[in-house]
Amino acid sequence: MPQLTRRTWSRSMSTRSWAVRSLPANLRTYIFIVEATAVVLAVSSVIMTVGSVTMSDAIRCGIFVGLFAFFQRISERIERLRIRVADSHQIDMNSVWTFGGVVALPAGLAALLAIFIALAMARLRWRNGHAPHRQAFNAATVVLACLVGSTLLHDARPHIWQLPGGATEALAVLIAIVIYTLVNTSLVSGAIYLASRPIPVRALFGTWEENALELATLCLGGMTAIVAIYVPWLTALAVVPMVVLQRGALIKQLEVAATTDQKTGLLNAVTWRQIVGKELARAERDRSGAALMIIDMDNFKAVNDTHGHMVGDAVLKAAADCLTDELREYDTVGRFGGEEFVALLPDVVPEVAARITERVLERIRTMHVESPDDPTKLLSGFSASIGVALYPHHGTEAELLLHAADAALYEAKRAGRDRVQFVGAGA
Ligand code: GH3
Ligand code: MG
Ligand code: MG
Repeated sequence: MPQLTRRTWSRSMSTRSWAVRSLPANLRTYIFIVEATAVVLAVSSVIMTVGSVTMSDAIRCGIFVGLFAFFQRISERIERLRIRVADSHQIDMNSVWTFGGVVALPAGLAALLAIFIALAMARLRWRNGHAPHRQAFNAATVVLACLVGSTLLHDARPHIWQLPGGATEALAVLIAIVIYTLVNTSLVSGAIYLASRPIPVRALFGTWEENALELATLCLGGMTAIVAIYVPWLTALAVVPMVVLQRGALIKQLEVAATTDQKTGLLNAVTWRQIVGKELARAERDRSGAALMIIDMDNFKAVNDTHGHMVGDAVLKAAADCLTDELREYDTVGRFGGEEFVALLPDVVPEVAARITERVLERIRTMHVESPDDPTKLLSGFSASIGVALYPHHGTEAELLLHAADAALYEAKRAGRDRVQFVGAGA
């Protein structure tokens, strides 16, 4: 998971350069269609709305502009940090105001509010390296989500059964949250898919935490809108939970940045060791087994020498993705440095560890990597060697296991590479 969008299409989702020219043709067409549709629908909806805007609509729109400006003023430093450390999907906190507009304003005004917020945020994001065409696309997805959400909400509400005690309003806001999220998410995921396919489904939709933050922001936006309709002065209170949410989001992002390896998204070496220490303590308590493996790419220097470091980096990322895909959710996978990865697999017997490592090797053998500067060029023919040590047979501490696995890895390399070597299993 942004800025103008709740969920942006982030740089890191693709290894490609962000120059428009370097985007694949089908992605460029997709972006063009989304942006053109947003412009046409926004203009026609503004034209249709403008004659019927009431004084209360104008006041509510002013309230949301004011809340946005005030929130921006008091949170600019934090937002700047958040944009800087953001990696994958970045959740845009401003959707509280854009979605508020969806609920409280007619479609044309809601779209204008979203465009205003997008433009106001553009300078900040531009300074932090967000390419203009990416920002324009994200703004287009938000405008479309606003238009669809607002049109359905206001046009469909009279047709929802009239429930007592304001339940109709509540239902309408819930439906709007779902529609807004569906439109925005599917448009952004479409772009991510075209930019980086094949891509695991979870990478398209972000983490639970990102989605929970997004949902919290939308709920608050919906509630603020209802308050804006009935008790406008009370809307100022929405800024307080927003500041707390934003700070919480920054802390989470900093935590992720401090524990992961930027290039591959795996755990960094320090964090990996910490987690493995805890996993081994747990294995000791439960008297269960575990396997520790070191995975080293074969002849990686040649990859760099032949294709350059950028390609080398893309290969490392692809290899890391193979590991995350093939290993289990509760295995601890990290990048140890260079072209070397480490994984601790709790609760495995040697036969299962052998099957898993063979699967990993096969996956790396069949891996295809797009060249970052020429997406039509697919590179293949990679391999890795793996050394495996078993807990508790080859050691009860991480250092000993690492040492043993490293010696086994050396054996695997000596025996010809592209193979697994278990400690003490013979060549
Ligand atoms: P072997 O099969 O024996 O492991 O040979 P190798 O070439 O893979 O091993 P060697 O240790 O000789 O070289 C490792 C290479 O990995 C050298 C270095 O340029 C490259 N490397 C290390 N870190 C990175 C990185 O972050 N990005 C890129 N592109 N290359 C890296
Ligand atoms: Mg190597
Ligand atoms: Mg190495």
